[in-house]
Amino acid sequence: MQLNSGILFKLENIVGQSFVFTDEETRNHYGHDETEDYVFPPHVVVKPSSAKEIAEILKIANQYKIPVVPIGARTGLSGGALSVQGGIGLSMERFNKILSIDEQNLQVITEPGVITQVLREAVSEKGLFYPVDPSSMGSCFIGGNVAENAGGARAVKYGVTKDYVLNLEVVLPTGDIIWTGANTLKNSTGYNLTQLMVGSEGTLGIVTKIVLKLLSKNTHNVLMLVPFYKANEACEAVSAIFRAGIVPSALEFMERDAIDWALEFIEGLSVQVKPEIQAHLLIEVDGNYPEILMVDAEKIMTVVEQFQIDDILFADTEDEKKALWKMRRSIAEAVKANSIYKEEDTVVPRYELPKLLEGIKSIGKKYGFKSVCYGHAGDGNLHVNIIKGTLSDQEWNTEITKGIREIFELTVSLNGTLSGEHGIGYVQKEYMDIAFSKTHLELMERIKFVFDPNGILNPGKILP
Ligand SMILES: Cc1cc2nc3c(=O)[nH]c(=O)nc-3n(C[C@H](O)[C@H](O)[C@H](O)COP(=O)(O)OP(=O)(O)OC[C@H]3O[C@@H](n4cnc5c(N)ncnc54)[C@H](O)[C@@H]3O)c2cc1C
Repeated sequence: MQLNSGILFKLENIVGQSFVFTDEETRNHYGHDETEDYVFPPHVVVKPSSAKEIAEILKIANQYKIPVVPIGARTGLSGGALSVQGGIGLSMERFNKILSIDEQNLQVITEPGVITQVLREAVSEKGLFYPVDPSSMGSCFIGGNVAENAGGARAVKYGVTKDYVLNLEVVLPTGDIIWTGANTLKNSTGYNLTQLMVGSEGTLGIVTKIVLKLLSKNTHNVLMLVPFYKANEACEAVSAIFRAGIVPSALEFMERDAIDWALEFIEGLSVQVKPEIQAHLLIEVDGNYPEILMVDAEKIMTVVEQFQIDDILFADTEDEKKALWKMRRSIAEAVKANSIYKEEDTVVPRYELPKLLEGIKSIGKKYGFKSVCYGHAGDGNLHVNIIKGTLSDQEWNTEITKGIREIFELTVSLNGTLSGEHGIGYVQKEYMDIAFSKTHLELMERIKFVFDPNGILNPGKILP
């Protein structure tokens, strides 16, 4: 498909000539995200700055049946922002303003192109707390978080993006602009279109304003790194901690290779790990009363000491805490720097984690691949990185797909599902039949049709 000069002229009329790009370099730049090595450039990159402009663009796209792909910061790991059918790549980067912070009602109204960490820091300056902290928060956009229903390390105590979204301004694929709900903490008024939009991966509408609920900031936390001699025991300890009555504010699992690669990847970070250690749990508790946190930390120690562990490392200073979090948050990039890989985002009820890990390893043996697992264990969310290593392209492209299918079948058999936080996007859609019946998938297709009768918005995503 080529966009003719008449259509480009119309787009330039809407957003201004300097915000329409057809050169190869720009198209390639906006044609990839962080998903493996995929590149799907749009035919044209357009950078609007208002909901009204987006509405005009979508009306043209409908008239000429041109695909439109909303593009955030392109940190996505399921290929949601890839222009797999070409068309218009709609960059949201000019929607970069925090519109208001309401200290009376503990709410923030923001545009979607604000970097998540910038938003967290802006509300923090007012003593408020936006807890959702994806490891990519230094670069991803809050709009991308809404579209993917992003989580993060603190989700185990504070929940994921959906738990904070109160109301959204959305441009529908037809070019109509709506608010989905109200700026209230409760809402039983009609169908919940706000929550339908959250996690819809830019396939039902384009989010142009976001109202988020905020919390008050906690003052204290305790962070500890627990080395386990056996990886499966680290997984068993996860549910044991909750059963002991503790709700940590973070509970992260890291297999040995994940830590080793992260330590190699980051300069100047030193954590001593004995050769026999197979995995670590990074555990945080937070609150306002240090005495209570120490009691919680002691309870956690009592639980983990029932397993085979080495000395627990407590982060005493803010710098030590930052270093441990940096290590954890660098794992995804460290894996990427080490080998070609495919990342799956499995999630199960947390008590099933040991079975999931064991099953992944035996599927790996069957198909001859190595996997490096880490993730938000407190949520039962395990990122499975399948490493290409020395596998041939033939094995990588055929056998591994069968192995991934078995991993997802195992996940679903454990009452889990395909993705905890990264979304389905382009790369996982061929596995949707494992998680959903035909009836369920048809229902989703019909919902898509109601919103987007011409199928122009982010086509080729989510639905197989
Ligand atoms: C190193 C690393 C660590 C990560 N850690 C985490 C983590 O801990 N937790 C987690 O949940 N994710 C994590 N991710 C994945 C990724 O950062 C999230 O999915 C994030 O929410 C994507 O935001 P983005 O702005 O980059 O969106 P993009 O990748 O640009 O787009 C993602 C999807 O959102 C849609 N979209 C973007 N903006 C809009 C909009 N305004 N309206 C409608 N649709 C829109 C796109 O069409 C696409 O389908 C990580 C990624 C990396 C690279």
